[in-house]
Amino acid sequence: VSYNPIAELSSKQQAELPHEQSHEKIFRALKEKVDTINHETCDAGDENSFFVCDLGEVARLKHYWAKLLPRVTPFYAVKCNPNLEIIKRLASMSTNFDCASKSEIEKVLSCGVAPERIIYANPCKASSFIRFAAKNGVKKSTFDNVDELYKIQKYHPESELLLRIVTDDSSAQCRLSTKYGCKLDDVPVLLETVKELGLNLIGVSFHVGSGASDFSTVTQAVKDARDVFDIAESYGLPALKMLDVGGGYQFDTITEVAGVLNAALDHFFPQETHADVSFIAEPGRYFVATAFTLAATVIGKRNVSDKESMIYINDGVYGNMNCILFDHQEPTPRVLYHNDQFSYMDSNTSSKVPTEACKNRVSMWGPTCDGLDCVSSEFYMKYDLDVGDWVYFSDIGAYTCSAATPFNGFEQTVDIIFIDSAL
Ligand code: PLP
Repeated sequence: VSYNPIAELSSKQQAELPHEQSHEKIFRALKEKVDTINHETCDAGDENSFFVCDLGEVARLKHYWAKLLPRVTPFYAVKCNPNLEIIKRLASMSTNFDCASKSEIEKVLSCGVAPERIIYANPCKASSFIRFAAKNGVKKSTFDNVDELYKIQKYHPESELLLRIVTDDSSAQCRLSTKYGCKLDDVPVLLETVKELGLNLIGVSFHVGSGASDFSTVTQAVKDARDVFDIAESYGLPALKMLDVGGGYQFDTITEVAGVLNAALDHFFPQETHADVSFIAEPGRYFVATAFTLAATVIGKRNVSDKESMIYINDGVYGNMNCILFDHQEPTPRVLYHNDQFSYMDSNTSSKVPTEACKNRVSMWGPTCDGLDCVSSEFYMKYDLDVGDWVYFSDIGAYTCSAATPFNGFEQTVDIIFIDSAL
């Protein structure tokens, strides 16, 4: 089944990443749930879309990270998917957490995670949120401007600060340096302010953007970070001891990026001279994207021609597939049930281009009345889908349920069935 990227690893890599029956367990869970739903009699909303989450995949990805990036401790970016089961599973595997707000911090603390394991990685924080972090013992946070330093000095002077620097993220799908990050030219004034206010600068952070295609930006960012370490020393500040290499890591490119990152760390922060420096990262999508599968049912259909139809499903861009608008994702619809026939582990039920097997052209739409709510403008399906059929989308755990809206009255009660393919 093509949706599980682990299948694309070499056999040697697969042996290091034992995964058992993951697809079968996912499909079994999808089937069990759909089989309980009778479209003729169910209560309103009983047939809502739902996820299957494989916590075993999350665990495998954590092991894989430790193999590929042994010097780098991951702080999971909660914003990506703030589900409690995910947080608990990662916490139990010595993963730490990147929180962007008060409620994310609250959520992680509620799972019994110590505040030292949290970085408040938002360079512009509300004063009340800074006070909340102070009260709850969350000391690590990022900043990139002078005004933030004054707030921190006033409300949380015990903070352990990381200076976020700008990166070249021009090749990234989701760019972040347009919004955050201090230019290297502005570093001196920030360091002077840190010194003047008596604050505790412990390191540097960066984020090269998500979905980047040019990984040389990682090398440049590590080099820039090292420059900031050196400049801080020249300002007489205590030696910096932490480098945060941000997020943007994805399963399909992690081996390549890890190679580049490890080489850059070894070059600019060699063990011999920088043994005291710890390295952290803020991966979000890496840990959850491939762990989630979403199932939705066909609620409407309009025939456009003999071989073309508009298919309306009960999830869309205002719901769990907001990733299409916000995160540049292009989820692939595949057939789960057609005319009550279950497509067991058949990943060849759709194609982006017409093929011998997939000839039925569809555009796929979400349930709201907005014309923007288009899941896919052109796809070719193996079957001529009907109302009551089910489709599924793989690799859909990142930036999906975390930003779903109740627009048009479609309340988002995120229904997730958890399985563990590692058991
Ligand atoms: N860290 C910060 C500061 C971010 O803004 C983001 C995403 O916006 C992340 C980490 C996680 O990025 P990703 O999910 O691409 O790994």
